[in-house]
Amino acid sequence: HSVSLAGGRQLLAYFNTSIPQMGFGDGTLYSQIGPATGAYEAFARQLDRVATGQTALAWQNLLADPEVQDFEAQAESAAQGAAPAILTDLAATTETIRAAMNRHDAYLVLIRAAGNDVAAAAHAARDSAMQSFGTSMVLIGCIAILSVFFVYVVARSISRPLQRLARYASEVTAGDIHSASPSGSSGPEEVRTVTAVFDEVVDNLRAIDAHALALAAGRLDDPVLSEPLPGRLGESLQASVAQLSQSIADRDELQRRLAHEATHDGLTGVPNRTAAMFALESAIARNRRRGTALAVLLVDLDDFKRANDTLGQGSGDDILRETSRRLRELARTDDTVARLGGDEFLVIAEAVGSIHDAVNIGERIIETIVAPMTIGGRQVEIGASVGVAFAVDSHATGESLVREADLAAYRAKEAGRRRVEVFDTAMRAEVTAHSEIEARLIEAIRSDQLTIAYQPVVTSECLAVRGFEALVRWRSPDGTPIPPDAFIPIAEASDLIIELDRWVIRKATAELARWADHGLPDDLHLAVNVSGRHLVDRRIVEDVAGALRDSGLDPRRLVLEITETVLLSDMPVACAHLEQIRALGVTIALDDFGSGYTSLATLRQLPVDVLKIDRSLVAELGPEKGQSLVRLIIEAAHEFGMGVIAEGVETDEQRALLEGLGCEQVQGWLVSPAVPADQARALAVTLAG
Ligand code: C2E
Ligand code: CA
Ligand code: CA
Repeated sequence: HSVSLAGGRQLLAYFNTSIPQMGFGDGTLYSQIGPATGAYEAFARQLDRVATGQTALAWQNLLADPEVQDFEAQAESAAQGAAPAILTDLAATTETIRAAMNRHDAYLVLIRAAGNDVAAAAHAARDSAMQSFGTSMVLIGCIAILSVFFVYVVARSISRPLQRLARYASEVTAGDIHSASPSGSSGPEEVRTVTAVFDEVVDNLRAIDAHALALAAGRLDDPVLSEPLPGRLGESLQASVAQLSQSIADRDELQRRLAHEATHDGLTGVPNRTAAMFALESAIARNRRRGTALAVLLVDLDDFKRANDTLGQGSGDDILRETSRRLRELARTDDTVARLGGDEFLVIAEAVGSIHDAVNIGERIIETIVAPMTIGGRQVEIGASVGVAFAVDSHATGESLVREADLAAYRAKEAGRRRVEVFDTAMRAEVTAHSEIEARLIEAIRSDQLTIAYQPVVTSECLAVRGFEALVRWRSPDGTPIPPDAFIPIAEASDLIIELDRWVIRKATAELARWADHGLPDDLHLAVNVSGRHLVDRRIVEDVAGALRDSGLDPRRLVLEITETVLLSDMPVACAHLEQIRALGVTIALDDFGSGYTSLATLRQLPVDVLKIDRSLVAELGPEKGQSLVRLIIEAAHEFGMGVIAEGVETDEQRALLEGLGCEQVQGWLVSPAVPADQARALAVTLAG
């Protein structure tokens, strides 16, 4: 474009110079055409150098055009001052103008070519731009696809194992460490490391769990428990496992001991009554199945209480231990040796051929016990009485067999000790009679068939009445009297005695309270007998208090007579009840003293106000004999602040001796037997001091 402009200007300058008349200007030839040609040449040189494509071709064509060359030559020469032919030659002028016009056309071609080139260049630029855009897009696409692929791969390689790990962890957390699958070892390094650590933790947990399982199952000797557990947790766990198993072992041992204590006698180590009854029931069933006979032998030591008293309790314990040792030695392995309590042992002999064999066993038992024992460095001889019950019929129960053996042993003692007695048909008849009496007695109490007889208690000095002892009387419907000794023991075998005692206390207190209405002294005391079974029963206190309340009798007039056997059987309970009864103002008398084994030493500890000397001691009393023991008893009683009454006084000689020994009151046939209430009231008048 610059070239064609410069060329155009050169053309104008040429014509201006050539045809001044045409009024194009008034400058010299040089001043006008020179610069135009110079500019044109400068541009043309530039074009030579830079022109490409169509432009270069058009420029070459333009330069090669003879008319262009011709015109340029004229312009050149005109620029150098030669006169142009244009003015002299019309044909030349026409030629020059044509050449000029031609050159102009060529310029237009050049310009068009240049335009084409520019357009082509622009197109090329656009195409290349488009091309690089496409490349970029492909690149971006590739990157995008790669990214997605990468994310996918990462997801597969990281998140899968992580998910697996998480699932595994939640299984473990839920406590399911055994079915929980191991987490594998795929995924990137970090995940693998975490997984490996986790696997180890789970392995440790499994080891710990194995320990716990062994412990829970109580398999303290399981070898798993001695396997080491890793780490500090493992250490402390193992320590606590050791401690736990120790305390479990301790507890088991304690339970074994408690179970043993519950079924075994603490003193001798042989089964106690509870265990013996168990063993007996299963022995009965076993022998019934096998069609064999069973013998139950009740062994009762003779004079054990006396030995216990004279030798001391420690020696008594030694005797019991030695007895059970000898019995075990004698018995066959299948037989049972048990201690029922006190000095009573039970031997259960199975598959015994006959009653004769059973008696034989009993005799051997006595033989082995009677052999001298060395107790506390001293030779001691202890006797034994044995009662045998033989389970011949299939209806025997453990309870009935022991009761039968007990009764037989009682008979053995009665018959002179160191004997074997067999429970037989006569005894069975007695047992039947026992049940009969029991049934009739129940009826008697409820239908008021019982009465009370009153025996006066008087001063030994002048036989002045001080009170009365109430003694129960029973007449069967046909009028024959049934002595207390025939029914009191039967009543004492069950709670029937409580009913009987309660009936007597209520009747007697009501009777004595009424006596004041008959003008009798209102300070006569009333003694009632209370059985041991009743005394250890918690109802005793209310029974006494209720009778006093309902009768209105002054509690200080009431005396309860108790026997020492109850004090020996359940001392703490009996004493507690006695204290409560004493607190009411009631007096307590110890009945039949001297017939049993209560030592004078233990007398001091008993909650007792009055001592009643047993009639057996009184019966033995004579000018030459029996005095020292009675004197000792009386002196001891006084020493302990107790009053003394002698019972069974039948002669005045006995009375005089007792008076001499310091016994202040007596009771017995010398004065009066027990008599009905109206006669007793009469006696109260005649014997009034
Ligand atoms: P016990 O308490 O020692 O009563 C005294 C017993 O000796 C009475 O016998 C009485 O009749 C009898 N007796 C009285 N004076 C003489 C005498 O000079 N010589 C002889 N040989 N005996 C004499 P009983 O009435 O047969 O009573 C026997 C036992 O029955 C009583 O002995 C007592 O243990 C018990 N007993 C009587 N009544 C009751 C009662 O209501 N309740 C309770 N639990 N036991 C009673
Ligand atoms: Ca009595
Ligand atoms: Ca008595």
